[in-house]
Amino acid sequence: MPAATADLHSPARTPSGIIKFTNCRLARNKRLTEEDLWLSSITGKILNCQEAFYEHRASPDRTIDLGGRIVSPGLIDVQLNGGFGFDFSVAPEEITTYAKGVARLNRQLIKTGVTAYLPTLTSQRSEVYHKVLPHLGPSGSRRNPSDGAESLGAHCEGPFLNPVKKGIHDASIFLDAPSGFSSLSACYGAPSLLRPTSPIKCITLAPEIPGVLSCIPALVDLGITVSLGHTDASFEEASAGISAGASMITHLFNAMRPLHHRDPGIFGLLGTTPNSATASTTGGAGPSAKPFFGCIADGVHLHPTTVALAWSAHPDGFILVSDAMALVGLRDGTYDWTNGAKIRKEGYVLTLEGEEKIAGSAVTLVECVNNCLNWSGASVAEVLGAVTATPARMLGLEGKGCLEPGADADLVVLEERVNDGGWKTLEVDQVWKFGVKVFDKEQE
Ligand SMILES: [Zn+2]
Repeated sequence: MPAATADLHSPARTPSGIIKFTNCRLARNKRLTEEDLWLSSITGKILNCQEAFYEHRASPDRTIDLGGRIVSPGLIDVQLNGGFGFDFSVAPEEITTYAKGVARLNRQLIKTGVTAYLPTLTSQRSEVYHKVLPHLGPSGSRRNPSDGAESLGAHCEGPFLNPVKKGIHDASIFLDAPSGFSSLSACYGAPSLLRPTSPIKCITLAPEIPGVLSCIPALVDLGITVSLGHTDASFEEASAGISAGASMITHLFNAMRPLHHRDPGIFGLLGTTPNSATASTTGGAGPSAKPFFGCIADGVHLHPTTVALAWSAHPDGFILVSDAMALVGLRDGTYDWTNGAKIRKEGYVLTLEGEEKIAGSAVTLVECVNNCLNWSGASVAEVLGAVTATPARMLGLEGKGCLEPGADADLVVLEERVNDGGWKTLEVDQVWKFGVKVFDKEQE
């Protein structure tokens, strides 16, 4: 490893903008390794330290001793409905208010360790998509650390969903797709389904809804991840969705046909192998690979043992999502909900007032990480992979979710603790965005 400090006899040089983390453990490739990390605050990227030192004769301007703490890629949440009082699905009269709300959320969200995410819309009427989607697209070339968390594109959860698995969505606005892709275009707005400007990165749909299955290949061609959810699909129908190009299951176990030993439904996808086309009792085409899936590890949507089961079934496809609503980050209490109902918040549990139905969560992604760490038996680095490398792989993103040279220097510094009861936690101490520190717990 090159020396940490510049040669004292070398002529005065301009600052390199290079920062070196030392005395730290890097969460990389499902393991924690004791290694230094070099990054550039100028390019906002992680550096190859050997190349920087030996080929470019560059040295760090600053060396930061992290005292043995963990450095993880910034967390990625692929299902976040809002937070800190802001709801992505509520379009105000004055759209500039909406844009300011998104900007404010981004600056708050990053303090939780989430550096990139998919702003998620529950099922809405067409006019809402037309109004808000232009404000939810990928941040792209706007690489400003002070903007906070970065949108990777919107996640439209609906409205091509099955009413019998509506969850808290308003089923009266669910749609079929009688004209195939044209139906989707009419709903989301044609500009929202055009390359390269599409603001949509993921769509959750139910493959058994008329006209939906045939749209999947065109969505995948646009670079949109297709996820199956709020669905009553049989195993065969779900398999057809995967064969058509869907690659994810939205919040596994929630709002879908339950597992039955003679009718595994969508869960059967996690029991498939590349050659399992014959697994279908009807002889239909099977999926070519197990899909990725979202998992809400809040202890409410899923029992801890169910989280462990999901992890065991397919660790490489396991993605922790918060599915958090606008109330995450606010105090406990009762709040107005969009359709006139009220929602009660207690800790990170949300319920519709008057019913005991779960109304999304108010959990942060790092809380899901901590729960999963204690419930699943997976290692720290493996669980961090479920909010970094795995979602990046699912979304086809290079340069996110990893600590490899050339990747964005979106980083979280975590303190590992174990309480008297043996409960392990990771606490967010620092967050770095594009090579610049944007949050430090000690300075809050
Ligand atoms: Zn949902």
